[in-house]
Amino acid sequence: MDGRLPPPPAQVAYFSMEIGLDPLMPTYAGGLGVLAGDTLRSAADLDLPMVGVTLLHRRGYFYQRLDRTGLQSEESVAWTVHDFLDPLDQRVPVEIEGRTVQIRAWRYLVKGMSGHVVPVYLLDSDLPENSPFDRSITDSLYGGDAYYRLCQEVVLGFGGLAMLRALGYGTIFRYHLNEGHAALIVLALLEDELASRPHNGEVPPDVIEKVREQCIFTTHTPVPAGHDQFPAELAHRVLGKRRCDLIEACQHQGALNMTLLALRGSRYVNGVAMRHGEVSHSLYPGYPIHSITNGVHAVTWTAPSFQNLYDRYLPEWRFDQLSLRYAISIPGAEIWAAHREAKMALVDLVNRETNAGFDRDHLTIGFARRATAYKRGTLIFHDLDRLQRMAKQVGPIQFVFAGKAHPQDQAGKELIRRIHDVRGQVPVAYLSNYDMGMARLLCAGVDVWLNTPLPPMEASGTSGMKAAMNGVPSLSVLDGWWVEGHIEGVTGWAIGSGNESRASQKSDLDLVHAASLYESLERRVLPLFYRDREGYIEVMKHAIAINGAFFNTQRMVGQYLRNAYRLAALSGNGAPVHEP
Ligand SMILES: *Cc1c(COP(=O)(O)O)cnc(C)c1O
Repeated sequence: MDGRLPPPPAQVAYFSMEIGLDPLMPTYAGGLGVLAGDTLRSAADLDLPMVGVTLLHRRGYFYQRLDRTGLQSEESVAWTVHDFLDPLDQRVPVEIEGRTVQIRAWRYLVKGMSGHVVPVYLLDSDLPENSPFDRSITDSLYGGDAYYRLCQEVVLGFGGLAMLRALGYGTIFRYHLNEGHAALIVLALLEDELASRPHNGEVPPDVIEKVREQCIFTTHTPVPAGHDQFPAELAHRVLGKRRCDLIEACQHQGALNMTLLALRGSRYVNGVAMRHGEVSHSLYPGYPIHSITNGVHAVTWTAPSFQNLYDRYLPEWRFDQLSLRYAISIPGAEIWAAHREAKMALVDLVNRETNAGFDRDHLTIGFARRATAYKRGTLIFHDLDRLQRMAKQVGPIQFVFAGKAHPQDQAGKELIRRIHDVRGQVPVAYLSNYDMGMARLLCAGVDVWLNTPLPPMEASGTSGMKAAMNGVPSLSVLDGWWVEGHIEGVTGWAIGSGNESRASQKSDLDLVHAASLYESLERRVLPLFYRDREGYIEVMKHAIAINGAFFNTQRMVGQYLRNAYRLAALSGNGAPVHEP
């Protein structure tokens, strides 16, 4: 493809270590990447002047295989890059550990509802002029050690900025850092600004201000351990002394802290749900941290049967997701028929893939997300006797699970094994190699979407929003987005009170939450599903009307536009317009 044509003007550049662009491209690992993809899809729908930057991930995150006992093994993903992406001619150098590494880019076009295009550039270091190690830098998402990760972040931040310049983007006024992985964009912009004026190694305050004016930072991690940081010695080695001196203030306890760098370098900072904004503010008390609650891209996550239904009853919904508010008036029988169709697609997949013998009429509970300790995937199996008893007394339940454990996360792998272990006692299926394509079937095809994170660990969570788009209510701990989306018995059901003291022992909280989960299931969810179908369908309608209409990326991108990007506050040359 011809990269020499002038690119369309872009005013916002969105930087993310992972972006879920196509279910068949392994350029994402989980929620963060799916959110990035949904953001760009809605930006394209809204005709926003935006461009995305990420890494190519030639070997992906990983392909998950599970043996009969649930033991996970990982393979690098084999995919044919040029089947999906257009190669560009431009080459840009980045400096890593004193070496020059050449970077190229591949282009993917995200097309909006009315034809507006948001281009995404996927950076690639696999060029013959680079050393074998340098050729591998953009291969593996979240693979390798701290050195490898820092090299990737250099490519994303410095390589990304250089590539945008080489492609001729002259009018980017906002850089959106999706999580701390993209923080080096701040350093790249600082360096760029200083190149054109004499200085003595100190950064003049007006230069910092100029960079801050351009940067928006979205943090996604509610615990300090989750924040990206690198030992100072490693940072010096990879970035060099000159660059490290510019950001010395971002060192914390002998490490370069990427969250601090992004916080200091950004004018607008936000968490991804109201609760998460508050938690982040308490982690970094010196910084004002706003909240913009996540969403999902409505059309992407709505099953064909519901797309069809909305097209008939809410004809504007593809352009205007506020119209989902009127799902309340869709006849219940139609909602149920659309749900049956989505459920059949899932049950058939489960039976084909796992031979679990699922029944299309049984209450089906879904749980799919990263297999890691804080998500507590086995909480539902805390008391198997009780689970069996209520299934016998009120109505049968079947469970479908999916999710990958990070290759280094032994506790996460053990969770997958333990879920396999209960198969003889309760109807359970575990689908391997969870990805966006499977998530579409799962979130739409179950009757209840279960979520049991240990608060306050779930920054937002988005799979429950995908479920709501398809009228599937959540049964969830009051953490992340569910604090905002939950109305008891109306949009779904809560596990726990939401006021559990942070100081509680994890084991105590497990007991409290397991008891509450069983109570909800036995007294509310199962009786409603089996004995009051009309009542169940009312909850489904409210999940769409109240939650689908709000927890979507159309609303979310609008908030970024008004609160964070504030493009309207720019004059033609990118300078802020001062009000009289
Ligand atoms: C939506 C999605 C996620 C994120 O789900 P959470 O509820 O935020 O944990 C992860 N992986 C895939 C494949 C998804 O589609």
